[in-house]
Amino acid sequence: MEHWLRKRAHLSPNELAIETMDEQWTFKQLYEKAVSFARKIAFLKGKHVAILSENSLDIIVAFWGCTMLESKIIFLNTKLRERELIQQCETADVEAVIGQSDKVQPLNLALPTFTFEDIESLPILDVEISVEMDLSSICSMMFTSGTTGTAKAVTQTYENHWSSAIASSLNLGLESHDKWLISLPIFHISGLSTVIKSAIYGMPIFLMPSFDATKINQAIQTRGVTHISVVSTTCQRLLENLGDNQYPDTFRCMLLGGGPAPKSLLEEAAEKAIPIIQTYGMTETCSQISTLAMKDALQKIGSAGKALFTASLEIRHGDKKLETNQIGEIVVKGPMVTSGYYDAEKANKESFLSNWFYTGDMGYVDEDGFLYVVDRRSDLIISGGENIYPAEIEDVLLSLEGVKEAGVTGIENTEWGEVPVAFLVTEKQWSEEALIDYCAQHLARYKIPKKFYFCESLPRNATNKLQRHLLKTKLTNK
Ligand code: ATP
Ligand code: MG
Repeated sequence: MEHWLRKRAHLSPNELAIETMDEQWTFKQLYEKAVSFARKIAFLKGKHVAILSENSLDIIVAFWGCTMLESKIIFLNTKLRERELIQQCETADVEAVIGQSDKVQPLNLALPTFTFEDIESLPILDVEISVEMDLSSICSMMFTSGTTGTAKAVTQTYENHWSSAIASSLNLGLESHDKWLISLPIFHISGLSTVIKSAIYGMPIFLMPSFDATKINQAIQTRGVTHISVVSTTCQRLLENLGDNQYPDTFRCMLLGGGPAPKSLLEEAAEKAIPIIQTYGMTETCSQISTLAMKDALQKIGSAGKALFTASLEIRHGDKKLETNQIGEIVVKGPMVTSGYYDAEKANKESFLSNWFYTGDMGYVDEDGFLYVVDRRSDLIISGGENIYPAEIEDVLLSLEGVKEAGVTGIENTEWGEVPVAFLVTEKQWSEEALIDYCAQHLARYKIPKKFYFCESLPRNATNKLQRHLLKTKLTNK
């Protein structure tokens, strides 16, 4: 297949590719910058090249430039510490690191390292760059968020990215004025997949260096942004910042994924007529695998929709397919699903069964075929033979006034095996009796936390996701 950005620059040279608060680049400009970047680092052709950068025009140019050299691009998270970065570089057999100067320069990685400025000053080499993309080869490697343990290196082929972009557009539709705002990091799949969609669709992106609720709401109000991808915390902050104002009719999709979405948040958004579309996906599925259709968004609040076109989804216990409304593990397959973790035979054996990928997430499918994600399998609490999903209890606690964060985990109990306990970050003082009372109104008795701990903060990974397995260590340190 012809290189996507080359093809796009040929089809729509003068159309807008990237907009920032103060710059605008056409596809032709972006393509030329990527070609010149590739020619400057042609000595890295075919190598495993890591990129360490926050959102910027540079990271996008570097990504496309590396694809023109058929290098495998390893995305590193800028919030990680040196030790973690060294570990990830080793895992992914990284041969050189490029990136933002203030991130790359302080590191001692024992690898050739180049800042974007270093590369800028290199001579342009007279070398051929790839005009084709081999769909079956690895384009990128991206580490999972490390929410449940050590982050895993997911291989993502060009075909995975292509299929993800096409399947997404077959669900959300593509309109001539679409403009997708990126504020989540490009080193995560949500950001990268939007960069790729831009070239494939011929759609401009509005690039933000990081999350800023005021600036994002302004961009939606005044700069023609039609789509944005959010996680529940950023969605919450956008809604708070919006207050009683409304989004313009041109704004057609707030794609919400990455973790559980509190029901209260979805209901608040529905009341304000904000077009929230819940989606389910992961690094391993190159972004969305299951997403609500816009027409179903209001009828199926809380659902993550149906598997996208070309993707399939089942609920299983081991290799047995479960019935409607039964909770089991979500397994998926399709051309957007990774063919495996890099150099990790054991993990691959555990995660795949004849092309089906076992996500490690629990969920069910309702009588109309809509997916509801319940929780992560590893966080399941079994108490007196009953299954308890921490997310359900957290959801109830979060709906209480003044509860800012809630985390639930199981602790050992001689009578029941395990019992749930809750960790709360609150703005308001709640007595244990009042909390139990509130939970009792919304939850079965065995789900009511046996103990409530008040904390300053909860353990979160570099993506701000709650690491429930670390809640227990909080307890032993008390
Ligand atoms: P690790 O695999 O290292 O523990 P991670 O699973 O958090 O980290 P990601 O690939 O960034 O890494 O996140 C994907 C996960 O996020 C999914 O497997 C699921 O647990 C959660 N998730 C994504 N979308 C949803 C959703 N709509 N509802 C609930 N959970 C979701
Ligand atoms: Mg995961």
